[in-house]
Amino acid sequence: MTEIYNFIDHEKIDSLLEEGKRKAKDFKLVREILAKTKDLERLPLEDVAVLVNVEDPELVDEIYKAALWIKEQIYGNRIVIFAPLYISSYCKNDCLYCAFRVSNKDVDRAALTMEQIKKEIEQLLKQGHKRVLLVAGEAYPPEKGLEYVFEAIDTIYSVKLGEGINIRRINVNIAPLTVEEFKALKEHHIGTYQLFQETYHLPTYEKVHVAGPKRDYLWRLWAMDRAFEAGIDDVGMGVLFGLYDWRWELLALFMHVDHLEECFGMGPHTISVPRIEPAVGAPISENPPYAVSDEEFKRLVAIIRLAVPYTGMILSTRENPQMRREALKLGISQISAGSRTNPGGYSLSEEEYLKGAQFSLGDHRPLDEVVYDLLDMGFTPSFCTACYRLGRTGLDFMELAKPGDIKYKCEPNAMSTLLEYLIDFASDKTRQKGMEFIENKIKTYDERQKKIVEALLEKVREGKRDVYV
Ligand code: SAM
Ligand code: SF4
Repeated sequence: MTEIYNFIDHEKIDSLLEEGKRKAKDFKLVREILAKTKDLERLPLEDVAVLVNVEDPELVDEIYKAALWIKEQIYGNRIVIFAPLYISSYCKNDCLYCAFRVSNKDVDRAALTMEQIKKEIEQLLKQGHKRVLLVAGEAYPPEKGLEYVFEAIDTIYSVKLGEGINIRRINVNIAPLTVEEFKALKEHHIGTYQLFQETYHLPTYEKVHVAGPKRDYLWRLWAMDRAFEAGIDDVGMGVLFGLYDWRWELLALFMHVDHLEECFGMGPHTISVPRIEPAVGAPISENPPYAVSDEEFKRLVAIIRLAVPYTGMILSTRENPQMRREALKLGISQISAGSRTNPGGYSLSEEEYLKGAQFSLGDHRPLDEVVYDLLDMGFTPSFCTACYRLGRTGLDFMELAKPGDIKYKCEPNAMSTLLEYLIDFASDKTRQKGMEFIENKIKTYDERQKKIVEALLEKVREGKRDVYV
């Protein structure tokens, strides 16, 4: 049994930041760090501590350019799309920033029945979604316990609206589990297990988590170790930005990545970057103690991209369309679209929905509009779920990502799932835009790539669904 301790070395982060502040004024040094990022390797903490302290607009611009370059090298233009599915808003914790906190009386709560979950999934499938992120508060119906979540996963996978019209990947964002429970979760064929530490800063953590099991900082901090131990090799991490200094949080986040790499030889598959949004009955959310400005937010996204080039980055509809457009250019590789953040939200009218939401959203556009917008910006909207179904997760995924081989796998799969979407669900306007996009994109491929993509697209045109390489 591993000894549990706090591997987030608070004093070391403080001193790295002090040193970084001094060094960030040295243009030559900052440019040397940026030049290093061209090797597509992880950056050491010392370098990250410098980048987070860069304030000069000229250098900040160079950080953005370097981030864009990396994104294009590794991820190309693909943006993976998903939708969250909130199954329950009951919770025994009291996180001062969240509307689901146990002492909040101003929110309508619900735990969806399996019938209701089916209805929600039907709504998502009709929009064209193929990937779902299951989200729940930490309190499952007592007669079922964690089985409730397992049943929900099985139910989501069971819904089919036609050949290949089904949810093909479920990621989950639920409270930390024991190793045994993680093993059971894996049996239900999840994609990514996602969990945010919220804040790595222990005194802040204790201040904002006032009741419930979530008060235990170390139990949460070691959740990814337990997940890996249980054989889940695909995990997603994150920080809730606004609780503490974002510069400090970034260093801590990368210390967490270092820890996982040392212990298991691999880091997270994705990093999420939620910023606190106003939530009903959650005092801190209206006025976060360390609110992150738009400009700082862009910087933190770009620095994550530079520091861990092979880790996907997720942006939710907490951000407004303009910020989402900008962040896409700085390193985001996955976004949610058409989201509702309360249980049953997809089956409700806009007005009813707002009464039970976890937090307010910045982007209310339906999926079709988001797809159109992505195409308009030159991004390829992708609904691909091939990797995890082919077992390309954890180290296998890293191996695939590293030699740039992605262009013969991810790119064709992105194009075939886009074409499926255009034929089956898109509005006329988006379909037309998408068809032109595909035609032009193919012209940019080398011969080998062209052959693979054309073969997949032909299958989709013939009516086959869920085809991938
Ligand atoms: N209950 C589980 C937990 O806390 O880990 C999982 C579900 S919780 C609803 C998912 C995430 O929502 C949290 O980890 C937190 O980062 C985020 N969240 C909570 N309140 C928020 C707010 N006001 N604005 C933005 N994100 C928020
Ligand atoms: Fe519960 Fe998660 Fe909200 Fe905290 S963040 S109150 S644990 S749902």
